[in-house]
Amino acid sequence: MSRELVAENRRLQAQLSQLLEQAEHNQQILRRHQAFDLQFIAASGFRDLLETLFQSFARASGLDPVTLSLLDPEYEIRRMLAGLDISLSAWPQLIFVQDESEFGELAGRLSRPVLADYTEQMHGAMFPEPLRPPASVAIMPLLRRGQMIGCLNLGSRDKGRFLPGMGTDFIEHRASIIAICLENVINNERLKHIGLTDPLTGVNNRRYVERRLLEELGRSRRQGYALSCMYIDIDHFKKINDSLGHQAGDEVLREVAGRIKAELRLSDALGRFGGEEFVVLLIEAELDDAMSVAERIRQSVSEQPLQLAGGHTQAVTVSIGVASLGSSDKSPLDVLSQAFLARADRALYRAKSDGRNRVVAAA
Ligand code: GH3
Ligand code: MG
Ligand code: MG
Repeated sequence: MSRELVAENRRLQAQLSQLLEQAEHNQQILRRHQAFDLQFIAASGFRDLLETLFQSFARASGLDPVTLSLLDPEYEIRRMLAGLDISLSAWPQLIFVQDESEFGELAGRLSRPVLADYTEQMHGAMFPEPLRPPASVAIMPLLRRGQMIGCLNLGSRDKGRFLPGMGTDFIEHRASIIAICLENVINNERLKHIGLTDPLTGVNNRRYVERRLLEELGRSRRQGYALSCMYIDIDHFKKINDSLGHQAGDEVLREVAGRIKAELRLSDALGRFGGEEFVVLLIEAELDDAMSVAERIRQSVSEQPLQLAGGHTQAVTVSIGVASLGSSDKSPLDVLSQAFLARADRALYRAKSDGRNRVVAAA
């Protein structure tokens, strides 16, 4: 009797320690998942989020590859990434689609996760070259406020890893965290953009140019290159407003901004400073270079009258003041930046008093 009890007891103890081991194992998995949730949430920006998703998370979860398909009908996200210097060719895992129909045979079936063996026809678009196609896949819709924003595509080399009918609670939770984090980094970038852009012309605003000027002055001092700036003002703009109306005036502002921009390099910074005034920073440009860019801008505005809505054409001219700065001035940067802009502004004033439609270099 007592021997049976001992044996029973042993059996129970063995079962118990097995259960404990299992619980411990589950606890570890849970902790690892929670750590990843936190890492996703802490991502400081787009690049950070992509690295966490495609590298650390994929590796730690034994997934190969992990990809992300994002709906981007107006190219907004792609433009955002270009602005952040994130090259799309560096991330083949990041896929953009115009609308859901590009999900091919999966379109319309992605209100729920799809777990299946990989087939080229069904899932090829989610695992494009040069990625190696997986053996099984979980395609998780990413939803925000009932709208699909894309899908998270988990690939595994293991054919049995994702089978139809398997529980998806864990990965659904993960997909919802990732959807929130994506929306968050996208919104942060939108906010930054709005805060630094002039809504009328789409070029940078004064805040951006002033901030950028401080950065560039610091860099030009460290690296020893010249900076130039120009102050551009539309001539007799008030007359245009008075004769054609405020809306036509707005159109002129947009057109002139476009003509200025067309003469600049990508590294230059153009901003609308207010009213009908624009400032351009030219990086690594001596006075001679800046003067010839300014002259090109003056000509490009004056040579072709602007074509306005309603069939109006309007001749427009601009006056430009140009100033340059070597890297040797040791004044505090904020003092230097104000003095630099003021020199260009004084040169502009001279261009106006000398008769307008001309470029004048600062003394
Ligand atoms: P000058 O050749 O001396 O520069 O003469 P101007 O008429 O261009 O200069 P002034 O500074 O007297 O006039 C600028 C005008 O720009 C006055 C203002 O009503 C107008 N303005 C300022 N902001 C805007 C805007 O956002 N849209 C439009 N349409 N007009 C604006
Ligand atoms: Mg003016
Ligand atoms: Mg003005």
